[in-house]
Amino acid sequence: MSLVEQDSVVSVNYTGTFPDSGQVFDSSEGRDPLTFLVGHGQMIPGFEQEILGASVGETREFTLTPDQAYGERQEAAIQDVQRSEFPDTVDVDQAFADGVPLAAYDEQGQPMQFNIYAIEGDIVKIDFNHPMAGKTLHFSVDIVSIRDAQPEELEHRHVHGPGGHDH
Ligand code: ZN
Repeated sequence: MSLVEQDSVVSVNYTGTFPDSGQVFDSSEGRDPLTFLVGHGQMIPGFEQEILGASVGETREFTLTPDQAYGERQEAAIQDVQRSEFPDTVDVDQAFADGVPLAAYDEQGQPMQFNIYAIEGDIVKIDFNHPMAGKTLHFSVDIVSIRDAQPEELEHRHVHGPGGHDH
């Protein structure tokens, strides 16, 4: 019988809730199971850690502190930007009201998502923290299937085929 271990390709059904309120923040319910390669940074560290050694059909329930999940919130990741620095096509008031994330590009042209944290007159406070940073998260995870990774999947560090990359 196979168990979840480093380099397993695992499919899971899962529900993530905030432990304080019980509110669901993410779930595979009504969707295909989530498939990922264990131990290659595809998932938050605690999620992988907590399902190691599980077998198909097993359910694991666990709570992750921010350091095991999306990290602590960093005050340095909040920056002040002049409203005039945003392109005309971006309505910062609307984005703030709707809580819609925006993207900036770093020097390498990589997109970096941020949220508008506050607007104070002409100063827009933007927040590069991950929206889930600083949060403690509870998960219920059902192990649907486990298989060994193909050499090519290990090389690419992601899953191919159903639930994974198709290329
Ligand atoms: Zn690939």
